[in-house]
Amino acid sequence: MGFWRTFINTLLPPRCLKCGKVLSLQNGLCADCFNKIHFISEPMCYRCGRPFTSEMHLKSGAKHICGSCLKEKRPLFTIRRSAFMYDDESKNLILDFKFKDKIFYAETLANMMFVAGKDIWAENPNLIMPVPIHRLRLLKRRYNQSAVLVKYLSVKTGIAADYETLVRHENTVPQVQLSGQARRKNLQKAFAVAAPDKIKGKKVVLIDDVETTGSTLNECAKVLKKAGADKIYALTAARADV
Ligand SMILES: [Zn+2]
Ligand SMILES: [Zn+2]
Repeated sequence: MGFWRTFINTLLPPRCLKCGKVLSLQNGLCADCFNKIHFISEPMCYRCGRPFTSEMHLKSGAKHICGSCLKEKRPLFTIRRSAFMYDDESKNLILDFKFKDKIFYAETLANMMFVAGKDIWAENPNLIMPVPIHRLRLLKRRYNQSAVLVKYLSVKTGIAADYETLVRHENTVPQVQLSGQARRKNLQKAFAVAAPDKIKGKKVVLIDDVETTGSTLNECAKVLKKAGADKIYALTAARADV
């Protein structure tokens, strides 16, 4: 095994996903690029995962909740987490993974998400599922990037993957082409639960590559809750809404 790994690495040395520099270990990013990624770490809101500013003196280990989460009477998500900020340093990782067939990014991103999701795994969820894409867009893009992340995360956590229960049944206009009100309208009724008995009383982890406004995850969570899910968690590689 060691010999073959060395042999393959000589032919096709692992390269940094961002800058292309040859790496000695197959770990996705070179040290320079890794250090530039704005990973989200504690202190953060225990519920929504929003980082707190460093001036706030918070007892580590305690479950602090941010102001906007405290206002929510019936929170949609029990816990939300993201591995890093969606900014100039991380943007290309996500965009290439999503639109440029860089499917091999999935393992690195899933490893980062696995670390970021520790509070979610501690709650022993029953199912892990991707934000679905419509089958016509799936044909064009050939893979659902979130489903690929689910595949890796399901193996790492041992949580059952479900790719079929949550469906996207209208070919909605890509959200990036819309703004505000139009985005929300476009998304309403876009998702449905195909088999409510599969999620009734279950703790479900929703997976997406990036959270920009949160509206897609919100709509998914709403239909899952309506169909009887007990608790919903959301885990994304990147988030933009801070
Ligand atoms: Zn690099
Ligand atoms: Zn919060």
